[in-house]
Amino acid sequence: MTAACPFCAQPNVPQALVCSSCSRDIAIPESLIAERDDLIRKRAMAGEELEQAKAELEALRRRQRISLRRS
Ligand SMILES: [Zn+2]
Repeated sequence: MTAACPFCAQPNVPQALVCSSCSRDIAIPESLIAERDDLIRKRAMAGEELEQAKAELEALRRRQRISLRRS
């Protein structure tokens, strides 16, 4: 398996710390990987909350329609 360099797009072995082609630093710090995983989790949670909010809004609209019909 190879990992493409983000600068020159040349393939490198995944464990490489510097690109074999352009010699730039391509190592990703573990803290950044952890941060990314955390952000992905938060994004998934925000998406769920958004869906829930949309469902609540739709329920409120439906209720409002019903009460308008009654009056
Ligand atoms: Zn490179």
